[in-house]
Amino acid sequence: MNKALIKPSYYDEFVCSAGECPISCCQQWKIEVDEATYQNWKSLQIGEPKKPLQQFVARNQEGNTIELTKERCCPFLSETKLCNLVTTFGEEVLSHTCATFPREVHEFEERTEYVLATSCPEVVNLLHRLERMELPSVENETPLDGIRRMLMMLVQQEEISIPKALMIGFYLLLEIEEGGRSLEEAVEQGITSEQLEELVAGIDGMPFSVINTFYEGDELFLDIIYNYQNEGMYLSYLQPLVETASQYKNGYDMDVLCKEVEAFEQAFAAHSKLMRTYLAAELFYNGLMPGAEVIDVAIKLQWISLEYAVIRHALFLQWKTNGKQAISYEMVQEAIVLIGRMTGYEDKDLYEYLIDHFEALVWEWGYLALVVGNENV
Ligand code: SF4
Repeated sequence: MNKALIKPSYYDEFVCSAGECPISCCQQWKIEVDEATYQNWKSLQIGEPKKPLQQFVARNQEGNTIELTKERCCPFLSETKLCNLVTTFGEEVLSHTCATFPREVHEFEERTEYVLATSCPEVVNLLHRLERMELPSVENETPLDGIRRMLMMLVQQEEISIPKALMIGFYLLLEIEEGGRSLEEAVEQGITSEQLEELVAGIDGMPFSVINTFYEGDELFLDIIYNYQNEGMYLSYLQPLVETASQYKNGYDMDVLCKEVEAFEQAFAAHSKLMRTYLAAELFYNGLMPGAEVIDVAIKLQWISLEYAVIRHALFLQWKTNGKQAISYEMVQEAIVLIGRMTGYEDKDLYEYLIDHFEALVWEWGYLALVVGNENV
């Protein structure tokens, strides 16, 4: 039996902008070299004087990665931002990562999904042009597919703010995980508009602190960027933001901060459609992996919520650094791409990070609520 193939509507429109790319994936990143490619590179040489390709690769327990130059660029990137490996030997010598990024294939038992990573600026351009991220219907949809579809719908529902949509989605997943409702029941019953109204009213009745959410966002932002900053990655982007973040450390006037958050929210609201489409695309790309169970989807929704909070915080710092001017599309695109690259962990590393930082794989609902806050964007 042929497996069904699912891909988002914009998948075939993707074209790498190569030399024109504003945030190339050939720099400031760990570029993996799979073992077959590494072996193939044994006999190939490049440059003047000639140097074996293998000498450009660092090998360690975690695998092979291309050693970046002191400017943190791929050594094969030409001055015109084209790949010297491709121009010298052709595309077939590229590692799997370089040949396929940002495309990925997820093989499920009953179907294959073609996905695009959102940490590529051209993918963000496609999402920016999209009215709404729709998922093509799936034959033999499993209950978890139905849950992912429901989450994608929730984050794109304009009457509900993004933070509330994330909180409600997480609540539903915890309810299933903790045995309050079966997975099948949850998909079959869906969420009625009355239930949604009740959940929204429940959230609005809870005490939220703009200040606490701001400082939690700040801590998460600094924590996520810590290793990258230490390794000298993304410095031109991160340094000004870190300097601005330091202004908020001691004795910052809380009334002023509340007003700044409110003004930022208004500026950020101009990008609400893109943020919703981005979150739906993230849920499609990352929210459900082959072999996943409800708990894995809950963990991914947590992580996507953290990414959202860190992107928003980075944009707040950039907005403040720039003298509180309007937030441009290019600023949002850059934040989505760079924070996406910094938080784009393999599942194993993500689970390790959660245990190390939060001492649990699954957060309490209240912690996710604190992270995303109850803002109106
Ligand atoms: S980030 Fe995307 S558009 Fe830019 S060089 Fe890489 S694949 Fe091409």
